[in-house]
Amino acid sequence: MTVVRSFRLHSSANEGKHAQVAALLPRWQAGLGRAQSEAVAIFFTTGKLPRWIDAKTWGGGLSQRQWDSVVAQAIAAHRSWLGSCENEFRRIVARSALSAACKRDLFYLNKAHAWHAPATGERVAISGKSSIPEEVLRLARRIFKQARTRVRHPDLRRARTMVMDGKIAAVETSEREHADYWVRISTLRAGKPVWIPLHAHRAFLERLATPDARLASHCQVRVAEDGTVTYRLAVHTPVARPREGGRTVGVDWGLSTLLATSDGHLRGRGFLARLRAYDDRLQPLAAALQRNGIKLGNSRRYRALVNDIREFVTNETNRCLNRIAADPAISTLAVERLDLRGMVRQGQLSRRMRRLITVAGRGAVRAKLDSLREDTGLSTVEVNPAPTSRECDGCGYTHPGNRRTQDIFRCRFCGKIVHADIGGARTILGRSQLERHWLDRPRGHILTALDNDFQARWGLRFADVVQRRNTMVPRVAPAPAASAAEANAHPRVA
Ligand SMILES: [Zn+2]
Repeated sequence: MTVVRSFRLHSSANEGKHAQVAALLPRWQAGLGRAQSEAVAIFFTTGKLPRWIDAKTWGGGLSQRQWDSVVAQAIAAHRSWLGSCENEFRRIVARSALSAACKRDLFYLNKAHAWHAPATGERVAISGKSSIPEEVLRLARRIFKQARTRVRHPDLRRARTMVMDGKIAAVETSEREHADYWVRISTLRAGKPVWIPLHAHRAFLERLATPDARLASHCQVRVAEDGTVTYRLAVHTPVARPREGGRTVGVDWGLSTLLATSDGHLRGRGFLARLRAYDDRLQPLAAALQRNGIKLGNSRRYRALVNDIREFVTNETNRCLNRIAADPAISTLAVERLDLRGMVRQGQLSRRMRRLITVAGRGAVRAKLDSLREDTGLSTVEVNPAPTSRECDGCGYTHPGNRRTQDIFRCRFCGKIVHADIGGARTILGRSQLERHWLDRPRGHILTALDNDFQARWGLRFADVVQRRNTMVPRVAPAPAASAAEANAHPRVA
């Protein structure tokens, strides 16, 4: 099992060489589109993604070797899309009310990517192992159809990255001084390749210096819309072994601080302030563009700003998670199932900004947790997020009023005061120790379970606490600065 990471390397090639490489893109894109639609057609008729598509008759200005790279890239992109569909399919089935036997068959079909396997009788054999009733296969098709509408299908005709394998982009180590690597890239002119000099940097070299790392033989070439060409080389490394014997730490995502841990650390404290500053630039720009009837996506300035914001969210996420992963005594992170809707529940940001960082944040967190697992062996358990922000990790009392402000959690039953995000992280940690982390439970069931636990512990239900608060006369005179409502917030356990 290996991990592949790609690194952008600076190139000192002249503009003429870049232009010759960029000239490949339109034909490359057309070929990707063609390979993609052929792969899809084969998938829906045979139920299987082809390993290969014959491009011998395509012509169109690329060599056979170049077409081979195009086809491989299209099939790989499609396979990764099917992987996302598989995840979505699993979520739909897990949440459904189908029988256990039916779910088991569906999960099996899903794992084998056999949603469109041809139905050949009343029972269908998948991968030669199991026989599945035809009606389950029909059901699987319907669910798959639903799943694939939820996963964005990449339009490869618009892809701007060309993944070139070693046959058309040979990577060679350079003995000469002015480059670390030379990539020989075949161009549109047969027999006239260009040599692109690339310069290594620290992160790349560090990666390459890890034990058993090796340089991949392919090169990713990206042509930006303004014609800038960038080159990436990839490094294969073995997957790290899982950390053993360490402790589990709960992690809560917030806005005012990006990340809080159950052992009391707050990471990324300036996060919200920086987002507000970005928002102050984003909103007027979007409004001005819309006033002038310009589509946001067509504005270079707008795209650049959105890109900056995404990069900021990604960098902050990576930085904060790296700090936690640096502690070798931690082996597992307990996180909310990564929905991150909670992350943007408050914060005085515009709707546009909230949507932007929800999407960017979800992607960044997922990617970083995956790479930490592969690179450092730090594992992750997901817990059900409902309603961790309102639950007191001291006594278990759960009520919206516990969360007084964005930062302060004060329990209305036991009076415990804690930083709201750290309290959330502790609740997440506690939940990670429960059976199945309550992932399969709907929100309503969780509240009932919390209420039952609370009653078993204190002899009261949540509703009794609310009623007591409403009928109770304050026993202590309010402190001069505090309001009556605040004095009311100190009921002690009878
Ligand atoms: Zn409490």
